[in-house]
Amino acid sequence: MTDSSRRRPRVSIEGVGRQYDSPQGVVQALEGVSFGVEAGEFVCIVGQSGSGKTTLFRIIAGLEDATSGTVYLGGDPVEGPGPNLGLVFQEYHLFPWRTVAGNVGFGLEKQGVDHEEQERRVRELLELVGLDGFADSYPRDLSGGMKQRVALARALAVDPELLLMDEPFGAVDAQTKRMLQNELLDIWSETGKTILFVTHDVEEAVKLADRVVVMATDPGRVREIVEIETERPRSRSDTSFGEYYERIMKLIRA
Ligand code: ADP
Ligand code: MG
Repeated sequence: MTDSSRRRPRVSIEGVGRQYDSPQGVVQALEGVSFGVEAGEFVCIVGQSGSGKTTLFRIIAGLEDATSGTVYLGGDPVEGPGPNLGLVFQEYHLFPWRTVAGNVGFGLEKQGVDHEEQERRVRELLELVGLDGFADSYPRDLSGGMKQRVALARALAVDPELLLMDEPFGAVDAQTKRMLQNELLDIWSETGKTILFVTHDVEEAVKLADRVVVMATDPGRVREIVEIETERPRSRSDTSFGEYYERIMKLIRA
């Protein structure tokens, strides 16, 4: 990777606003949101419930339109769902009638990748997320953590440049969550993906991110962007970890 490609933002969010009409009147879910994410960067978005995190996620993914402003991916405006994205949601969204391999291979099938190549790639991905041996299982037979591993493998299958994740570990227990966080960091350093990760868990953000975008509520907007300079792996017992945690908590509560 050249220096210029490293500096060029992979994602550029420029003046994004979003209004909803509700029975109680107009809700300003987002207002004037602007920031960039560099290629290969790991950025977390934190904020209280209702600060517009999911709305922003959906606009970046092209699942929803902004009412003002534009999101650019690699220089092109987002105008709908694109193939260059891997999406992981809090509620796994797996196909219950497909096996684990069938779920992971879904995007490859749609792209018309030949059968042998599909199988090879699915095997590789299941190994990457620690699920070798589960290719023929069905989602109903898996724990929450395992389902989220399947969702992650499925998102990675088409080799997207950007992984967008909305509270992906919000529904698993604390110990599984820590394991998944470590695995995601390993996958990130192995693959060099750009990751944009939404969470309301400040500890999770401080553990994972290069930078943390702190959102404020009503209207949903960027309060501050905090760069986490602590070397990885990071431990909750590091002094700097606690300092970042307190600083971000204060920003969220302000
Ligand atoms: P977060 O993910 O940070 O909890 P959301 O993006 O889900 O926040 O919501 C931001 C605000 O926009 C909230 O006030 C929410 O009620 C409102 N909102 C989100 N989606 C809709 C919708 N489809 N219709 C009306 N209001 C919505
Ligand atoms: Mg949300």
